[in-house]
Amino acid sequence: MKYISTRGGIAPISFSEAVMMGLADDGGLLLPEEIERLDRETLDHWRTLSYRQLAFEVFSRFVDDIPPYDLKELVDRSYDSFNHPEITPLVKVDAIHILELFHGPTLAFKDVALQFLGNLFEYLLKKNGGRMNILGATSGDTGSAAIYGVRGKDNINIFIIHPHQRVSRIQELQMTTVTDANVFNIALAGTFDDGQAIVKALFNDLNFKDKYCLGAVNSINWARILAQVVYYLYAALRVRGEGGGKVDFSVPTGNFGDIFAGFVARRMAPDLIGRLVLATNENDLLSRFVNKGEYAVGRVTHTNSPSMDIQVASNFERYLYYLFDRDPKRTREAMESFASSGRLEFAENIRERVGSDFSAEMVGEEETLAMIRTYNQKGYLLDPHTAVGVRAGLDFAEKGMPMVCLATAHPAKFGDAVARAIGSEPVLPDALAAMLDKESRYEVLAADLEVIKEYVARYAL
Ligand SMILES: *Cc1c(COP(=O)(O)O)cnc(C)c1O
Repeated sequence: MKYISTRGGIAPISFSEAVMMGLADDGGLLLPEEIERLDRETLDHWRTLSYRQLAFEVFSRFVDDIPPYDLKELVDRSYDSFNHPEITPLVKVDAIHILELFHGPTLAFKDVALQFLGNLFEYLLKKNGGRMNILGATSGDTGSAAIYGVRGKDNINIFIIHPHQRVSRIQELQMTTVTDANVFNIALAGTFDDGQAIVKALFNDLNFKDKYCLGAVNSINWARILAQVVYYLYAALRVRGEGGGKVDFSVPTGNFGDIFAGFVARRMAPDLIGRLVLATNENDLLSRFVNKGEYAVGRVTHTNSPSMDIQVASNFERYLYYLFDRDPKRTREAMESFASSGRLEFAENIRERVGSDFSAEMVGEEETLAMIRTYNQKGYLLDPHTAVGVRAGLDFAEKGMPMVCLATAHPAKFGDAVARAIGSEPVLPDALAAMLDKESRYEVLAADLEVIKEYVARYAL
């Protein structure tokens, strides 16, 4: 399988090259040349597989340059760090199936992809010789999942910038109690936006980027999407027995990464995966896109589901490419026009296509808290992101059609929001409780490009 760019500006490359490239060199996003449709026999066989076995089979269809034995070992190692034998178990609460994606080391769904990506980076650097200094800014969640993905790995250092004293106590501890020698936590005396601007400036400094082999772990890496395709197929095959019909999914959405993985899974198995419900919080860029046909940046609103407080969806371009019948020229023109005007509008025929690919709903703050309360009374505690998805999932659920709602974080990670809904904070799971007594390590630095640059240069591999 070769990989191409949504903007058509690079010659086809291998899977490993696509993983190491991250963002395509022409500014586009990387995609496989083809997404193969699976036949009935394959799906019937896959129904019998464990999560790890299924992950190996799915990856094998998209990986052209890693020997099967090595790939299998990478998959096994990545999911050994999960604390549930099924990796992503399903729990049925009334008519809804909740797909729990939070059994990894940082208790959020990003672990499913980042545990794999960390192992993959280490493997490829060892194989091809090389080093990498990962640099990222976080408002809380992605940082810890990235740190856990690469802690202790050879030939990789990671620098994560978080705004000092502006992330939750749990989020801070999840990052700063990782004291492996290759992990550098920078507590920035500034805001998340300051951190992001500094990271952007360092990546744009091509001399600096090359000299220190800067790498990113943001959600545009194809390997992250690929790892997420697995649980859609896994869940659908578990919910529907042999010979049985489709399954709908509801997905709490921020950067469009997770739901794009669902889109890929549906292209592989259109008889198995039905409706994809795109659920947003009040940052409704994407639900407006689906329901009104306009894609226009607004201001970020802070909500109870902060990991979805996003106003530019970094994976949107991948969908756009399919929406434009895989025409790289049209995709490039649209993205360039978006970059200059901050908005895109779509013609009626295109809007109809979008409407047949996704259903969408914005779920407000009150509705989110109410959903947490309602499910708490049923004996199941939702985190606020999951609650957004469950609300939308219930609104689109149809009789006789199973609805799977993706649970993207453990409720204890967002204890404040849960307490606002039900009056008390959830009990901390052992892994989080143990963190409270651990040594934590971070460096407080000024929100100044030169200061950060000098720090990274000093500790980079
Ligand atoms: C990142 C994140 C999301 C949004 O996922 P996208 O791939 O950005 O759409 C939802 N919930 C939680 C808890 C997250 O951390």
